[in-house]
Amino acid sequence: MSIPTITLNNGVELPALGFGVFQTPPDETQVAVVEALRVGYRHIDTAASYGNERGVGAAIKASGLARSELFIETKIWVTDYGYDETLHSFTKSAGKLGVEQIDLLLLHQPLPSAFDRTLGAYRALETLLADGRVRAIGISNFLPEHLERLLPEIKVMPAVNQIEVHPYFQQRAVQALNARHGILTQAWAPIGGITFYRPGFSKSTLADPVILDIAAVYGKSAAQVMLRWGAQEGRSVIPKSVKPARIAENFDVFDFKLTAAQLAAIDGLDSLERGGPDPSSITVDTFKRVIPEA
Ligand code: NDP
Repeated sequence: MSIPTITLNNGVELPALGFGVFQTPPDETQVAVVEALRVGYRHIDTAASYGNERGVGAAIKASGLARSELFIETKIWVTDYGYDETLHSFTKSAGKLGVEQIDLLLLHQPLPSAFDRTLGAYRALETLLADGRVRAIGISNFLPEHLERLLPEIKVMPAVNQIEVHPYFQQRAVQALNARHGILTQAWAPIGGITFYRPGFSKSTLADPVILDIAAVYGKSAAQVMLRWGAQEGRSVIPKSVKPARIAENFDVFDFKLTAAQLAAIDGLDSLERGGPDPSSITVDTFKRVIPEA
């Protein structure tokens, strides 16, 4: 099945549903991505800090698909921020992915404590875009205060801001600011993964009665309803799974349509409680990750 695309603010087409690989172990990544490509996904979201870009690259090669059919997205980690460091980080990621050009390259986090390095990193993305080494550039986990700080300093508007969005944490203010600037909101944890794989977190979006009631109407799963909700509200969604049945299930969301009342009911589930780390608190030392050479 072919799926709809979203046109980014520079005209590049992004498949509306992609495949995430956060926490996919490096030695399982190739198999998971090969399966996703077999099912029909054409957009893969990885990151230098996930340690599995090589597995994504191996899957791209093994798939036999033309490079032009695929949309490959990755992210620069904060330890590689700064202009020269980020230019070099591109070569590390492209080398591991086995590609000449990356479709969408993001800054993984703002680095509020060293914003000059964040700006240097973004300027490197602009250079990579001008040189044709990436097709689109963007940011991730930028809150309004980070975006307001970035925008006056840059030439190219980010195409995407990838942020935590699922029924229990919707970040409407960030989504509205993104929209005002023509920046696409890309939802990470779009089925609320962060709400159910965190020890001690009691609520799971998968068991939410409002979502399950809607799912029953269409004979769909809670995960499918959440992905449909995200896609229908215009977000890019990038669910992750390593299980073939779920990889297929998460892709099968374009044969039903939620009503305005059902969308509103899911909008009403926002708890305003973040599942992931507060982006304002991230420093170079938070995760102590160093990105290896290709
Ligand atoms: P998701 O909302 O995609 O949930 C993933 C979790 O749900 C996994 O535990 C997976 O387990 C499980 N799962 C997947 N499909 C189903 C299903 N149909 N039914 C029940 N359980 C299911 O969360 P993620 O955190 O993975 O976010 C998606 C992607 O977003 C990431 O993979 C990554 O690419 C990106 N991301 C970006 C971040 C950023 O800071 N920019 C932060 C976090 C994520 P299993 O694999 O066992 O099926």
